[in-house]
Amino acid sequence: MTLALNQSQTNGDSSIRCSFCGKSREDVRTILTSSESAICDECVDIAMDTLGRQPGNFFIRIGYFIFRCMASLGHVLRAGKGK
Ligand SMILES: [Zn+2]
Repeated sequence: MTLALNQSQTNGDSSIRCSFCGKSREDVRTILTSSESAICDECVDIAMDTLGRQPGNFFIRIGYFIFRCMASLGHVLRAGKGK
């Protein structure tokens, strides 16, 4: 499975929606897509929060941290465009 990180303002394909909450790409900061589904940063937040509370999920926490860094970076880049 291949995942792609799509920042919400790149080449507006608004047909991409989060498979969990249904928000479109414009409604969220970051959306991760695969060939079959998509998940937004807000739903990743909820999922990671839930998983992270369980013992022994250290690597999930690390993955979550990396994701948040990427999302933040995207936010900074987007803000830097001055649009
Ligand atoms: Zn979502």
